[in-house]
Amino acid sequence: MPIQPAKNPPKNQPVAIGLLVIFVAITMAIALFVQLSGYHLRTVDQQDRIYATVVQRTVSHDTTKPPFVMSYPVTQDHKIDGLIRNYVTSLTDTYMKNRGENAHPDEQLAISYEILFYDKATLSVSFRQQIRRGEKVLTSHDTTPTFDIKLHKHLTAKDIVIDTQALNDLIYDYQRANNTQNPYSNAELVHLLDLTTADFKQVTLYGNRIVFSFDPHIPKRMGNPETIAINKSLLHGIVQPAYLHTSPDRSREIQDTTPHITEMPLRDQPIGPSIKKLALTFDDGPDGSTPRLLDALRKYRAHATFFVIGNKASSTTPTLRRIVSEGHEVGNHTWSHSYLTTLTPAEIDRQILDTQAAVQSATGGYTPRLVRPPYGATNSVVTQHLHGLQQTLWTSDTQDWLDKNPDTIYGRIMQGAQPNAVILLHDIHSTSVDAAIRAIRDLRSDGWQLVTVSQL
Ligand code: ZN
Repeated sequence: MPIQPAKNPPKNQPVAIGLLVIFVAITMAIALFVQLSGYHLRTVDQQDRIYATVVQRTVSHDTTKPPFVMSYPVTQDHKIDGLIRNYVTSLTDTYMKNRGENAHPDEQLAISYEILFYDKATLSVSFRQQIRRGEKVLTSHDTTPTFDIKLHKHLTAKDIVIDTQALNDLIYDYQRANNTQNPYSNAELVHLLDLTTADFKQVTLYGNRIVFSFDPHIPKRMGNPETIAINKSLLHGIVQPAYLHTSPDRSREIQDTTPHITEMPLRDQPIGPSIKKLALTFDDGPDGSTPRLLDALRKYRAHATFFVIGNKASSTTPTLRRIVSEGHEVGNHTWSHSYLTTLTPAEIDRQILDTQAAVQSATGGYTPRLVRPPYGATNSVVTQHLHGLQQTLWTSDTQDWLDKNPDTIYGRIMQGAQPNAVILLHDIHSTSVDAAIRAIRDLRSDGWQLVTVSQL
């Protein structure tokens, strides 16, 4: 159709004419598409229920009994809008392909949506696909893709997970602690839960959590749920930081059947009273060798307790966070490693309370329950000023600060390995960490559970 120029086009509005030309061209393209597919499409736009900048677009065949009606969000980002449109169109295309000639004339695919999370980095949308016949819902199925707004792509687990092993550990620990019906033994579960990012068919970001949906073959194999929700606060170091921004949750539904990990599960819970267990404790850190120690603890599925110095907390925040997030215990080892027996009660109070505050601040709220007075120096005045913390000494001292020889220290750890032992080490010495890594490996293969002091 020829474009009719306005009779007296204002000379200063060439842009408006340009836009008109583009508009008409697009309209013609749509008309051509409609012609080819043999249908006229009806499009209705209204504002999204929650987001003022989002348009809810509803598209259906322009007939009295349209075989499908789909609603989807339209943002002001054309690339994201294209991804969403393709996503929804692929759902209707699949339906139309499978619908067949003999479908009941009242049967209809209805796709509705709800925005679950929308920030500068990502947009998560829940699409509900219902096949209806009249008022009757025959099937209902939800999919919840997440789109990366900056990269303009549909996100997968592979895009967001940076530490698959840690994610495995977290889900494993949760399953161990919560799935008492699990037919698998401890060793089998370790072997079976060797998830890779390809085992997650979908990731969905919500305001405060990420929901991982397993590929269908996983739940069958493990007796697991199809999806698992994990609070973003537990995913530091596991998921790319860009995807951990939190906001109040706006979505109305949290499915009760989805397991939801809201706090770090204890690792490798003792599986029976007969199991032999002991606690490794590391004082005076964190320090440069601590991450190496944490790697080994994770690898061998062991827990430990770290008695930390308060005045180091602000400079070792990432390590402290990692200690907590990987399920270890943090104890109070005073602010400046003082002989508490030489201090006034008020000074003891400061040593203890300032350390509690520093650990809480560094870890985002973790509160130590244990205290170990430096040098084991304690008396009745000290014990009256521990503010409810449990005083924890040791059953076996490796003297690792004196003999900086990994073989010697390793021998002493193994010698001290008795049921319910508390073994004293210092992660500020790399020689101690070397010895501990060897001992952790050998104690685990000897059947020891390495637990925190509080788990003894
Ligand atoms: Zn110490």
